[in-house]
Amino acid sequence: MIPAKFDYVRPSSVDAAISALAGGGDDAKVIAGGQSLLPLLRLRLAYPDLLVDVGGLAELRGVTHDGDHLLIGARTTHYQLVHDPLIAEHCGLLSEAAATVADPAVRHRGTLGGSLAHADPAGDLPAVIVALDATLIARGPSGEREIPAGGFFVDYLTTSLEPGEILTGIRVPKLGPGWGYRYEKFHRTAQAWAIVGVAALVRRSNGQVAEARVGLTNMGSVPVRATAVEAAAAGAQASAEALRAAAASADEGTQPPADLHGAPDYRRHLARVLTGRALEAAAGV
Ligand SMILES: Cc1cc2nc3c(=O)[nH]c(=O)nc-3n(C[C@H](O)[C@H](O)[C@H](O)COP(=O)(O)OP(=O)(O)OC[C@H]3O[C@@H](n4cnc5c(N)ncnc54)[C@H](O)[C@@H]3O)c2cc1C
Repeated sequence: MIPAKFDYVRPSSVDAAISALAGGGDDAKVIAGGQSLLPLLRLRLAYPDLLVDVGGLAELRGVTHDGDHLLIGARTTHYQLVHDPLIAEHCGLLSEAAATVADPAVRHRGTLGGSLAHADPAGDLPAVIVALDATLIARGPSGEREIPAGGFFVDYLTTSLEPGEILTGIRVPKLGPGWGYRYEKFHRTAQAWAIVGVAALVRRSNGQVAEARVGLTNMGSVPVRATAVEAAAAGAQASAEALRAAAASADEGTQPPADLHGAPDYRRHLARVLTGRALEAAAGV
């Protein structure tokens, strides 16, 4: 199918994009890489009157130091996340997960901001951002505000972005010494969406787990933080046995979907197994 008719603007600044969005009201939509929005337009599941293309805004692209954080522009592509040296040095979990998104063509066009704003619970990067305790920066007609990743995802394909707001950047804490990480993704075929994914971070100290953080992909209508696992792992021995025991509660509080790729019970099983593997790899045991 071809999309329904729409107007199109390609502003040259974030301020101009915000004005264009405000002018278009409820029927205006941002487009970045188009990797999620274009299929929806073609299926006529979305039919905005106006598309505001932020694809030319250099100020939204790239990775910079921001004290003990990295500031990643919303329009930074998956390809850049995989190859950026600052991300590799300070936040390797993000590059590892971005490398599992789709195929090279999608990774060259798709953006971090688009993945987060789209808020598909099967997307790989939302769970990673939640596990990293990142902060999202949004700008709109009433100025700029910061949204903790844990409060950004509201429901299936729904975020706390207000109408007229543009996601401009993501502030990610730099992982200091002692941290290890792993993104475990279980998919039907290479380059496919996650049936379940697990983003794990472990900080080791003196042979023990000082802190663990776990985000789950596709285990509910939003990315889920596996708090029961985190509590069980904290203070435990950094051993395979202890981490697998902590992972046994990975499905606690989740509401996994049922679809052609798996029933909820199957996903619960996957979450426990993958969390064990991800924690072990992150802890280096
Ligand atoms: C064949 C294929 C396979 C895929 N496989 C995977 C996969 O395995 N894992 C995975 O995680 N994803 C996968 N995806 C999805 C895709 O990678 C991301 O969802 C996509 O990159 C989103 O980024 P985008 O820049 O293309 O966003 P767009 O499609 O341009 O926009 C998506 C949504 O975000 C909004 N938006 C975009 N940028 C902003 C912004 N700066 N501020 C506010 N709102 C904004 C748009 O209005 C729209 O609602 C796949 C996509 C395709 C086509």
